[in-house]
Amino acid sequence: MRSTIIAYHAVGYCSAREDPHGLFLSPETFAQQMDYLARRRIVVPLEAAIRGDTQTKRPAVAITFDDGYRNVLTVAAPILSSYGFEATVFVPTMWIAGRNGWMEQSSCDFHIMSEKELRDATENGIRIESHGHAHIDMSNSSYTEIHKDVQTSVERLAGIMGRRPRYLAYPWGRHSEAARRAVAEAGLEAAFSIDQPHQGVYAWDRVYIAPHDGPKTFTLKTSGHFLSWRRSRLGSSIAAATRSLRRQ
Ligand SMILES: [Zn+2]
Repeated sequence: MRSTIIAYHAVGYCSAREDPHGLFLSPETFAQQMDYLARRRIVVPLEAAIRGDTQTKRPAVAITFDDGYRNVLTVAAPILSSYGFEATVFVPTMWIAGRNGWMEQSSCDFHIMSEKELRDATENGIRIESHGHAHIDMSNSSYTEIHKDVQTSVERLAGIMGRRPRYLAYPWGRHSEAARRAVAEAGLEAAFSIDQPHQGVYAWDRVYIAPHDGPKTFTLKTSGHFLSWRRSRLGSSIAAATRSLRRQ
């Protein structure tokens, strides 16, 4: 069974109204989920999840965060450290030390780590990788645009971290043939989507953990069977029904 790679964004307090895209988990929920992983799963580094050398009795899970929010360092990292878990953070280099300017403004803490904070994070078991430069939608941008964005991100991160990044998470979790090609040509070893079919090393699927996911959903999402379950007819009809219930 392949390892599951889960995707988070921010950890802290933010009302649903100020967080319409569901990016914030409360510290309590996040801590409960880490406690569950410690008891019932085996947490592995992202690199091991890709290599597939995670033959264990318990399902293997790698933890990732998109956007590089500062609260990952200040709130999530101490919880991760208390369990000895490693995690990977994907940062869009244009927004380092700023806010997530690609989204509508919110009163919540959407500050992105500074260069120093990114380096501090590595001291806390957090690996910093690329989320592109300007957080463009790579599923509908031209090859030239994507190529430039990815190259800029790789060069900036190499300058800040003292090593070239190896991985990239597609902004919004979406990609295209042009995006996969640009990422490969930049010398990156793997790239990650969210909730999209697995299409090899440059379209590696991750499972999104949403603020409203209860313990049962989290158990299913980290079981190693979630993506195949959702692709089944029963799974997709339940998922569609849940989405329409949530809209009401
Ligand atoms: Zn993002």
